[in-house]
Amino acid sequence: MNRLILFSADLEEKNLAVLHDRRAQHIRSVLGSKIGDSLKFGVANGESGTAQVLSDNGTHIYLQLEYSQAPPISFLPCSLVLALPRPKVARRLIQAICTLGVSELHLINAYRVDKSYWKSHYLEEDQLREQLLLGMEQSGSTLMPEVHQHSLFRPFAEDVFPKLIGGKTALIAHPYSETKCPVALNCPSVLVVGPEGGFTQFEVDLLSAQGALPVSIGNRILRVETAVTALLGRLYELS
Ligand code: SAM
Repeated sequence: MNRLILFSADLEEKNLAVLHDRRAQHIRSVLGSKIGDSLKFGVANGESGTAQVLSDNGTHIYLQLEYSQAPPISFLPCSLVLALPRPKVARRLIQAICTLGVSELHLINAYRVDKSYWKSHYLEEDQLREQLLLGMEQSGSTLMPEVHQHSLFRPFAEDVFPKLIGGKTALIAHPYSETKCPVALNCPSVLVVGPEGGFTQFEVDLLSAQGALPVSIGNRILRVETAVTALLGRLYELS
């Protein structure tokens, strides 16, 4: 945990937070914070500063909050469209995507996405929020990305995707494309990453028809989580 992330429900007063969940346990057991120790905190999508441990009764930790004027670490100007991975991969990947600074995640269906993945409980709001929270705690950013779910491919590709692109650069990560992925794009983009079994040609064609360009980052076929990290590191100077 590089920054404790708080929500309005954790605040008894603007300058007093009370925790009794995983975060309290982490402060106690992993950070080893004692009464009087300080740690960095931020309110999700809000202000940040320094929290001092006031008391700990073994279940509840009370923190005195002092706010600073420091601006939040900004998002990358990237909306990531990701074919829904299997639950075990998705949980880690959502954390990593949040840590890397993606502003908006669209989880989509594809022919090679197993239908059962959509029933997984990690897609429930509180479970998603927990993964995003872990990603924010890791990166130290207080900004929480938006997550949208699209369980039908065609309506997403034909109706949502063109609006999402707007005037931005849109890229489909596709290992078999002859076009090399740009380096240091550093401007707003929509990046599409396929399922573990890859997109079908029909899907690549439909996304391309909306103005997205299939691009490759080399001949090696990378796992989805490796591809996402390599692509974002190549397109952006990570902030
Ligand atoms: N056998 C699959 C296929 O036919 O595409 C491989 C899929 S790969 C495990 C999962 C996704 O990661 C791909 O759909 C693509 O979006 C991305 N990816 C993996 N390696 C890539 C590369 N070398 N260039 C661009 N994208 C890549």
